[in-house]
This record gives sequence, C-alpha cells and structure tokens, in this order.
Amino acid sequence: MENQNQLIDSFGRVHNNLRISVTDRCNIRCFYCMPAENVQFLNRSKILSFEEIIRFVRLVVPLGVNKIRLTGGEPLVRKEIPELVKMLAEIPGIDDIGITTNGILLPQYAQQLYDAGLRRINISLDALNAKKFEEITRRDEYDKVIEGIQSAHAAGFEPVKINAVSIRNMTEEEIVPFGRLARETGAEIRFIEFMPLDADNQWEREKVLFAHEIQEILTQGIMPLVPEKQSDKSAPASNFVFEDGVGRVGFIASISNPFCMSCNRFRLTADGKLRNCLFSLEETDVRALFQSNAPDEQIIEAVRNSIAAKKEGHEINTARFIQPDRPMYSIGG
Ligand code: SAM
Ligand code: SF4
Repeated sequence: MENQNQLIDSFGRVHNNLRISVTDRCNIRCFYCMPAENVQFLNRSKILSFEEIIRFVRLVVPLGVNKIRLTGGEPLVRKEIPELVKMLAEIPGIDDIGITTNGILLPQYAQQLYDAGLRRINISLDALNAKKFEEITRRDEYDKVIEGIQSAHAAGFEPVKINAVSIRNMTEEEIVPFGRLARETGAEIRFIEFMPLDADNQWEREKVLFAHEIQEILTQGIMPLVPEKQSDKSAPASNFVFEDGVGRVGFIASISNPFCMSCNRFRLTADGKLRNCLFSLEETDVRALFQSNAPDEQIIEAVRNSIAAKKEGHEINTARFIQPDRPMYSIGG
C-alpha cells in the first residue's frame, strides 16, 4: 500500500534514502575532500549522539525512509560504530544499511560490522599504485586499505564495492588495473567523477575525467563493456559488465550525466544539520531542535519543509553554480 506520508519534493521525487555522517574526522587527507593541514574538526560536544541519530531515524521511517548509509569523515574513526549499526538494524522498517569507508580500519571492524547487520560496503580507493595513493591521500596507508578490502571479503560482504574518484592527469593509469581487479576478485568498481566539493577550491572542469573517457580506456585496455539492466532506478551509478560476462564496473557521472532527477537521497551531517542535496546552500538545524526539546511533530515538519525546498538539480554545469561552504568531509559523501 502506498505510504501517504512519503517525503516527496516539488518535482515528485520520493526520498527514502538517508545518509548519516557520524563524524567529520578522518585518518587520511584526500586532496579532493579535505585540506592538507590544520583541519578544523567539530568539537565532540557538537556531534549528534547515537541516541539522537536513532531518534531521528525513528521519526523518518514512518515517512518512508528505509535505506540508510553511514558516512563521514571516516565513519570507522567514530567509536563503537558496530553498536550504531546494531541499533539501526533493530528499527522496524529499516531494511538496508550501508557504509562508505576508506577501509583503513576494516581489518579491525569488518566482522563486527557484518555481525551487527551491515550488508552493503563501499570502500574508497582511487589508485592501485601505492605512490599514487599517497599522492592523493597525503598518507601512507595503502597496505591497510588493501588489507581492509580483504577483511571485507572474508567477513562475508558480497559484493564489495570500490569507489574510485577519477581525476584527469592523475588517475588515467589506474583505470585498467581497476578493471582487471573487478574481473579477478568480483569486486565492483565504481568510477566517480571529481565534484566541486574539495576544501581548497581547487576543482576545475578540466580536472574531471569523464565517465565516457574511462569507458573508452577500459574498452581499449581490456575489452568493450555492455550496460546492465538498472534494477534500482534511483541508484547514481550506471552499471556495466565486460562483454565476456566477467567483471562489473559502474560510473557515477555526477558532472557529465547528472542523475538529480532520480535522486532519492537526503543527508544528516555529524553536527545534526539536514541537507536535501550534497550541493545545498541551506540546512535545517535538527540538533538545535533536539536541544530545545522540540516535539516530534516539529521535527517531522522541519524534515518535510527541507525536502519540499529541494532544488531541481545541482547546477554545476551552469554559471549559476555556487560551491557550498562545507567541503565533502564535513557534509558526508
Ligand atoms: N571516508 C569515507 C570514504 O572515503 O569512503 C567516507 C566519506 S567520503 C567523503 C565518501 C565518498 O566521497 C568517497 O568515496 C570519496 O572518494 C568521495 N568523495 C570525496 N570528495 C569527493 C569529490 N570532491 N568528488 C567526488 N567524490 C568525492
Ligand atoms: Fe577522509 Fe573519505 Fe574525505 Fe578521503 S574522502 S579525506 S577518506 S573523508
């Protein structure tokens, strides 16, 4: 039966997918996300508690939210994340919990996360070359990420998805090795176009390596790809399989082929601000509502208003585009 309470915006998009950032802290410093030095992290007292996160989720489940993804910053640097996963998994109506992680702490947490009820895992890794990895992340943690990917496979995550941000004049040589990795291990590689959400305002269109160019490199270097049937119409990635049926890759073409019109996502930042889009310039302060003991109805009304105000699309490809003040690590990717 259709839920009359659904979160529907003025373009008819139904919002059932909530991304929760659990921290803005991180153990590496990817240049497209964080500044190199002197990162101003949130004071711990400003971060939503697990109880506040759970209260928020319980309020939005009756509004049709059934998918959650934990992110950050690096979600695994927040203490006791498996406990949060368990608390979320116990909420009736939540049937899909995922995490996006840089993988460094997975050797420690993969099994606990799986046992707590997590089933979807995306591990971010932009290069299979350790030096290139260090150039991008400004840290020497490549081996730990590889170990983390192995731990995820061993814990039972299937498939393991790998997110690789693609940057012109930087990651071209990584593409074919990633294609081979997909073929050899069953991991799904999702190439992501570089978006203007970096902390240093270094983004330029010229630095974006476009999905169609990546596809061409894979075709030349391995073999042609054939599109897969899209089972989830609101998924941002368009998925392909190599024509011999071995190895799956996806493209998140946020710049060259924006998927805004099928977006079903909204976000809660670590400091409790609700954002109806990654690129939103406005936020709703849910934490302030919690702190002022606002009743449930007022919070639900605030969520509805936020979704109702969602813009048609991100406008990166127009002169109107304004990059949000918050970089990616502070929003939650
Ligand atoms: N720390 C975790 C990680 O890296 O997986 C979770 C947070 S991170 C902000 C979430 C995802 O956003 C990662 O896959 C990361 O590569 C991606 N990301 C960060 N900044 C980006 C940017 N400017 N353009 C495209 N993707 C970006
Ligand atoms: Fe950290 Fe993830 Fe941002 Fe990289 S992309 S700096 S791992 S939060």
